[in-house]
Order: sequence, then C-alpha cells, then structure tokens
Amino acid sequence: MVVKAEYIWIDGAKPTAKLRCKTKILPDLGEVTSLDELPVWGFDGSSTEQAEGHASDCALKPVSYYNDPIRGWPHILVMTEVCDPQTMEPHPSNTRASCVQMADKHAGEECWFGIEQEYTFFEGIKPLGWPDNGFPAPQGGYYCGVGADEVFGRDIVESHMDACLDAGLTLSGINAEVMPGQWEFQIGPCAAPAVGDELWIARWLLYRIAEDYGVSATLDAKPVKGDWNGAGAHTNFSTKAMREEGGIAVIEEACEKLGKRALLHVKNYGADIEDRLTGAHETQRWDQFSWGTSDRGASIRIPWNVAADGKGYLEDRRPNANVDPYVVCRLMIESICDL
Ligand code: ADP
Ligand code: MN
Ligand code: MN
Ligand code: MN
Repeated sequence: MVVKAEYIWIDGAKPTAKLRCKTKILPDLGEVTSLDELPVWGFDGSSTEQAEGHASDCALKPVSYYNDPIRGWPHILVMTEVCDPQTMEPHPSNTRASCVQMADKHAGEECWFGIEQEYTFFEGIKPLGWPDNGFPAPQGGYYCGVGADEVFGRDIVESHMDACLDAGLTLSGINAEVMPGQWEFQIGPCAAPAVGDELWIARWLLYRIAEDYGVSATLDAKPVKGDWNGAGAHTNFSTKAMREEGGIAVIEEACEKLGKRALLHVKNYGADIEDRLTGAHETQRWDQFSWGTSDRGASIRIPWNVAADGKGYLEDRRPNANVDPYVVCRLMIESICDL
C-alpha cells in the first residue's frame, strides 16, 4: 500500500510567510512509524521567494508528522524545515531551527505554550455572512454566539475541529469571535517547537478544509478597518516554576522582563501590528506596555484564576493572528528565561 505524504513548509513571502505543500508518494511503505522513514525532499525555491532561478533547489527536512485526517490512514501530513540542499543548514526563512535551539537550551524550565489562533472567513471580498451592501449589526452579540443571525461558518469550524483531533493535535477548544465571520481555535498547552508545528498544521487544515466550502480563511490582523475587532494570537506561557506553589511571583517577574524588550517583541509579532494594537478593541497600544490581572486592555494579562490560585501562566495578548509561532516562542523563552 502506498502512503501519500503531504510535505508542508513555510515559504519566504514577506512580510508574512505562507504555507506551501506537495504530495510525495511513498511506495511499499505500509505505515510510517518513525520520522527516519521519511526522506528529505526538495522544491523549486525560485517560486516561493526562497532562491534565485540559477540555484533554485531547496531541501525539505521532515521534523514531525501527523495522521492525515482528510485522506485517512495510512496517509500523513509531514511538517518540514527548509534547508540548504548542500549543507542541510537552515535556510534564512527557517525560523524553527533557532526556536529549537532556544527551547533546547531551557528544556529544564519546562516551558509550555497555549496559542489562541483567531482568524476570519472570507467569501469573495467580504467576511462570511456579511451583507452584500453595508455592514452587519455592530459588535456585541457575536462572541460565543449561537444562531443563524449571529454565527457564520460553523460547519467549517466543526469539520476543522474534528480534523485537528483526528490528526492528533493538542487542540484545547474553539469559539466564535467578536466580529461576525471571525473564529478562534486554541493549540496547547505544549512545549516548543511542538506548539509551532501543531499551529502551522492546524492552519494548513483550516485552509484545506475551507477550500471544500469555497471559503477562504485569513489570518489578516485587521481584516476590516474601523470599529471591528482585529485578529490576534494570544500566547499563554508558563514555566515549571510558574505552575508550582508561589508561582505568581515568578509570573510577575516575567511580566517585568517582557516590559524591558517590549518593542522588540512587537516588531516581531506580525505584519500590520500597529493597525491592530490601537489601544481600543481589547488591546494595549503597540508602543505602550502594561501588565495586569484580568486586564484585557493590557499587553500581558494574568488571568483571574491564576491570580486566585497564586500560580499558573501569563497571557501575552500582543501577537497578531498572522504571527510566526516559532518566533513568538523563541522570543518569549529568550526574554523570560535567557536574559
Ligand atoms: P481566553 O480566556 O484568553 O480566551 P483561552 O481559553 O482561549 O483563553 O486560551 C487559553 C489557552 O491557555 C489554552 O490554549 C490553554 O491550553 C492555555 N494554557 C492553559 N494552561 C496553561 C499553562 N499552564 N501554560 C501555558 N498555556 C496554558
Ligand atoms: Mn481565547
Ligand atoms: Mn479570542
Ligand atoms: Mn486570550
């Protein structure tokens, strides 16, 4: 029996990289039981903003794989890193390699991440469910809403949730968001780089499944200008020390550390972040930093249950929906554990 292996990688598009994929038929394999069975593969980097035409080959190094919930057993989805085909060194667009390095260095701290991926469905040029002329009723009733006048695209969301679970991803939930046509799913808690691999795979599944409905999903940070919420990727973070008795002191210390490198984080938290972090719509301004308990207008929020327990995690509310999770994880470990 052949295995259809969908090799997935991140391209060199700027300012926001995109997912790319192609299928490799692995004949006579039966079932893949370890990463070593998956060959290094290649692609034409001149078509993905990753190479010049005269030396266009880039290598795809498999780094993790998942059940393919669309094609079913024994087919798989393969997450890969883009490398130089001669040296197998990471390509400049490869942000995972440096994330792995930073995560390995601090493996002893047992860092966990939970990322809340917000996104917006579009049908043609307007968000799914929006009227052809004008705007839907103002925000207020849509967040976690129910009913045909409140939520749009639930069938796609349910199908995506099932696919993530069938693939074996650490999905922790879904909800309808503040702007109609906008939704969220959460990956985690898990370690880096696994949380990044899983988030990219979950994004791929979202695009792929929405394809079948003739709908596109966008991670645009501010898909509709004006009085409509943007889309973020709140990143929840903890170390072992934060999760243990007295962890709240470690959490508060981490908030202070994040404040020392606030601008560096914001500059790496996704394209058009100034359009989203305006100080309105449950955000702190991009050029200001604050942290607080239960404060959804702060850069960093300590959830009320964490404050009550005296241990747990913090939520960095700044990352955009279109952020690269490998970059967020590397920066958070660096700012909190390395400096
Ligand atoms: P919000 O109230 O901000 O909408 P969500 O419920 O959407 O929060 O997301 C919370 C995220 O935090 C989930 O992905 C969850 O897995 C993650 N999380 C929970 N505990 C921890 C922890 N100790 N460390 C890191 N992430 C955590
Ligand atoms: Mn959430
Ligand atoms: Mn949300
Ligand atoms: Mn949140």
